[in-house]
Amino acid sequence: MRFHIITIFPEMFQSYLGESILARAIKKKKISFSFYNPRDFTDDKHRRVDDRPYGGGPGMVMRAEPVIAAAKKARGRKKKVKTIILSPSGKQFTNAYARTLAKKYTDIILISGRYEGIDARVKKALRAEEVSVGPYVLTGGELPAMIIADVVARQVSGVLGKSASLEELRTASPEVYTRPDEIVVSSKKYKVPKILLSGDHAKIERWREDKQKKKS
Ligand code: SAM
Repeated sequence: MRFHIITIFPEMFQSYLGESILARAIKKKKISFSFYNPRDFTDDKHRRVDDRPYGGGPGMVMRAEPVIAAAKKARGRKKKVKTIILSPSGKQFTNAYARTLAKKYTDIILISGRYEGIDARVKKALRAEEVSVGPYVLTGGELPAMIIADVVARQVSGVLGKSASLEELRTASPEVYTRPDEIVVSSKKYKVPKILLSGDHAKIERWREDKQKKKS
């Protein structure tokens, strides 16, 4: 899977992508990341990517043309490509949606907004989908882009190790424990649930399913 990130802050991604599972997946060429800065697609000497909103209102708006030019460059002649604009009012991002993306596409373009958002014509011109990572407003689309890339990458074959992949197929446990089986905090004992020490895998699986149901 190739991720193409449209952002005016490409450096923000380097630390996250340089560590752990994603760094290994990049090294193994299971996933790749390319960055396109809309500032590189401006034609004025100040490389301006924002302007005042039509109709008035607070803040600035990201200009359509540099974003469209950057996305077109990312798209090239690719066929199985999905273009997503990060937006707090978009479709809610879920694991199920991530699985669909990983199955259907070879390339995902993630457009990160800043300021008061992106000129609405970008969505129309690129036939992009607006996606939200949750019911709250962040200062920019970089974290949401990273979240989507991370969740989709987990669905790409060979990105997770064998045991982690198997874990994905089982009931995800909302409660996990590791050694020791008892800890003491401020004179109070906290024990691991007995069932997890029983060695009875069928019972453990049922216990996990039960916990999951109660949580959702
Ligand atoms: N006034 C804008 C609105 O309500 O849509 C908020 C813009 S926000 C300050 C700037 C950028 O952050 C957005 O263009 C979007 O790319 C990103 N963003 C903020 N919250 C987000 C969320 N929950 N999901 C996805 N993107 C988000």
